[in-house]
Amino acid sequence: MSASVAAGGDVTLQLDGVQVFCDAAPVIVEGRTLVPVRALFEAAGATVDWDGAQNRVCVSYSDIDVTLFVGKKTAQVNGREESMDVPAEILPGNRTFIPVRFVAQALGFLVDWDPDSRTVILDSPEESGIETTTVEAIALSGADGVIRTEITYTGAEPDCRTFAYEAPDRFVVDIRGASIQLADIEGGSGSMPADNAVFSKIRYSQFEADIVRIVFDLNDRQTGVLTTASAEGILYIDFDDPSAPDEPAEETQPEEEASSESNILIPSADWRMTDQLVVIDAGHGGKDPGCLVSSGGTTYYEKDFNLEISLALDRYLREAGVQTHMLRTTDQTLALQERPVLANDLGADLYVSVHNNSAETSVPNGSQVFYYEKASEADYVIGSKALARSILDELLQQIGLADRGIVSQGMYAVLNKTCMPAVIVEGGFFSNPQDRAVMLGDDYTDLYARSVARAIILSLNRAAENGQGGS
Ligand SMILES: [Zn+2]
Repeated sequence: MSASVAAGGDVTLQLDGVQVFCDAAPVIVEGRTLVPVRALFEAAGATVDWDGAQNRVCVSYSDIDVTLFVGKKTAQVNGREESMDVPAEILPGNRTFIPVRFVAQALGFLVDWDPDSRTVILDSPEESGIETTTVEAIALSGADGVIRTEITYTGAEPDCRTFAYEAPDRFVVDIRGASIQLADIEGGSGSMPADNAVFSKIRYSQFEADIVRIVFDLNDRQTGVLTTASAEGILYIDFDDPSAPDEPAEETQPEEEASSESNILIPSADWRMTDQLVVIDAGHGGKDPGCLVSSGGTTYYEKDFNLEISLALDRYLREAGVQTHMLRTTDQTLALQERPVLANDLGADLYVSVHNNSAETSVPNGSQVFYYEKASEADYVIGSKALARSILDELLQQIGLADRGIVSQGMYAVLNKTCMPAVIVEGGFFSNPQDRAVMLGDDYTDLYARSVARAIILSLNRAAENGQGGS
């Protein structure tokens, strides 16, 4: 489960999720972290100029210049004087050290400090979402049984939320932090007719100051599947074309027959669950490896398994039309306490934490799912206990490890600090030889991901059938 991050050790620097290695270690002076200026800020894409005659260093990033003087607590930000708690210093090794928080914030970076791992966490302005998306064109295309809408954009990759509305039936995509600049747009909105089996019209508008809304007037109740081709600058919104001839197998096969080991059927999400946001928490990461297992001379880390499973889970859910957000997509350190806060801030509807297990002895084995029924769950369409049951049933059926049951556990931060229903999935025990053989097998991570995806979608679809609206 969750081995906590070890405290102590030197201060480390993390920039956009990646550790930055300095040729000289950061130092703490009067509670402020000073870093060697070149190592960090040049890695961040800033320009660093040192003027030895004046003992002055200038750090420039986009259109901001921060100038510091060695030994002085006064800095200049674009020529404006500001005071700091500690001055820049020249330290052994003849390198200039500057106060990281002051300078990074002045340059528009987000700065955070993780006391557990003693890490200064910097997110550059692009990474922290300050850049906006501009919608430049909307066009219809399609092939292979898919009705495709192409949204051409510039700037940041679109940050989308989707919604379904009834009477009349509509599928809505909101692009946040975005503006729309189309040739034919009048008074902030416009529309284009469509002639297909799924929708009769696309409407688009600058819905709020920073939200572009795209509305599909539906003939057929469907959830559009969103994919972004960031290299091309295109957001695709795909609907199944019900007028296209059925493709062989897959979609038309009854569920009972479809669960061949490598191809568990993952149903499409009910269109009424379009607004549900699932947060995927790949357990551990970065400096926190989770549990370790050595086999055949190789050491495996739980964090890597969790990430591989989570990336596949994310893909399966998106392909089914479920909105997702991954708390980490790389080998990144993320404090345990930070995870529920991120999910709450996103307004997520469901939280799934992906883990694998280990024990002191080789005896314990099997799959297990933790949940915690909070009072706040009543506001959501799925309960955590029912979801835990559904996920465990799928895991047992598809992977076949021992049944350790579902367990109510109010002590875990990701269960008790999240507002939304949350579960922690523990696939199997690396410390048990039989489990380990399965877990190191070729299809374990994929079966794990498919099982969880299927359980989530079936749970959402049951909620839709029971007349639960969106959140
Ligand atoms: Zn774990």
